[in-house]
Amino acid sequence: MKADILHQIYDPEVLRQQGHQLIDLIADHLEAAIDGRLKKTIPWRDPEESLAYWRQYTQDSPQGLFEDILKQSIKLHNPKYMGHQISPPAVLATLSGLLCDAINNGMGVYEMGTASTTIEQVVVEFFCQYLGYDEEGGGFLTSGGSLANLTGLLAARRCIAVDDVWQKGSSGKLAIMVSEQAHYCVDKAARIMGIGQDGIVLIPADDSYRMRTDLLEKYYQKSVDQGFEVIAVVGSACTTATGSYDNLQDIADFAQQKGIWFHVDGAHGGAVIFSNKYRHLAAGIEQADSIAIDAHKMLMTPALSTILLFKNKSNSFRTFSLEASYLWDQAGALEWYNLAKRTFECTKLMMSIKIFTLIQSYGKSGFEAFVDNLYNKAVEFYSIIQNDPIFETAHRPMSNIICFRYNNTHVSELKLDELNLKIRSALVKDGEYYIVKTQLKDRLFLRMTLMNPFTTAKELTGLLDKIKSLGLDQMH
Ligand SMILES: *Cc1c(COP(=O)(O)O)cnc(C)c1O
Repeated sequence: MKADILHQIYDPEVLRQQGHQLIDLIADHLEAAIDGRLKKTIPWRDPEESLAYWRQYTQDSPQGLFEDILKQSIKLHNPKYMGHQISPPAVLATLSGLLCDAINNGMGVYEMGTASTTIEQVVVEFFCQYLGYDEEGGGFLTSGGSLANLTGLLAARRCIAVDDVWQKGSSGKLAIMVSEQAHYCVDKAARIMGIGQDGIVLIPADDSYRMRTDLLEKYYQKSVDQGFEVIAVVGSACTTATGSYDNLQDIADFAQQKGIWFHVDGAHGGAVIFSNKYRHLAAGIEQADSIAIDAHKMLMTPALSTILLFKNKSNSFRTFSLEASYLWDQAGALEWYNLAKRTFECTKLMMSIKIFTLIQSYGKSGFEAFVDNLYNKAVEFYSIIQNDPIFETAHRPMSNIICFRYNNTHVSELKLDELNLKIRSALVKDGEYYIVKTQLKDRLFLRMTLMNPFTTAKELTGLLDKIKSLGLDQMH
């Protein structure tokens, strides 16, 4: 071993040896997952217990550490994983991640990411093409749907609001309109922007948890009458809790009529632009002024990698106009290749590579197969759950999200929430399967998102059987 610590830290032989072993570890794990040999999805440990474990952890070797981390992490590749909306990453995307982490190009300015910046442009063009934007369309990648939604809404404020809030700070009363079923990050974004609770105009949802677009006019007028300047309306494609797609065409028409910004939160379901079968769910999406799509949800990349697209790409340069003379020669120039001119991030992950590698190898077909597999399966699973009298479903699935609950008629309506909450906790502690929960119209439902293409009716039946037996246990 070389003497000084810095040579040890950068020893290529360590990379070679440990790297080969690590790849074997991950490949064995993936194989076991797909073959259905993993016993647990989530190795539940109380947080305090886990903290104590890692505090006193002493590794015997880096490989031992990697194995322990794998062992103690939730396993998205297990077909019994049906929880939160994050992809089991594709093999090539994982490998791209390794390369990106090894070379660590910073991306803020072109010089700090000569390949990844231009590849990002190619990825953006690919999305624009399938979305149906014309040559004015463009955008960039950013760190997560939450940040993409905030960035889109900041662009809305810059382009629509009468005051220049960016320069002068906030004085007026701005408002945005969004479904009561929208992801909470839209609410968060509005508050960060200084909009405040009263400026967040929540539009009620219908029985399918879709925005009541027939109420847009009424809520708009009410807000204007209260002295608000409505700058944007946000459509969900789809919502997080139930996977419901808002009627984007109606929202587009409304936004156009009022001259306000139309943003689509397509973090989860924007991926349908690649599916011939399911594209219709997002009809009208190409009329949005800005759209966020998470590749780490329905496009099989590691987190975070999010696409933020603009119908008119020049608007994307207006969001963050900053003078940073050490970064660029001309602050005002619309240089697509100096990405930090348009992003919140300065240093940014090389996320384009993880998407590009999938586009290169499989074209849109890979994305389409993933979406179709999961959306088709939701319809099949829904009918299985629906046909079992012990379960109650909350909605017909429009995507790969299904909300349902254990509903034993011997239990009063009031006690059902508590019972389902207990079942969900018991499931997590058991660890074989992983699903989540959600609140719908003040009632608690179990919620599954089918994120794994290898989940079959067998895993579903196993899960339902386990829920039934946990349900009976809880009642005694
Ligand atoms: C997941 C999700 C988000 C948040 O995206 P992150 O990438 O987790 O920041 C926003 N909107 C919807 C509809 C989502 O499903």
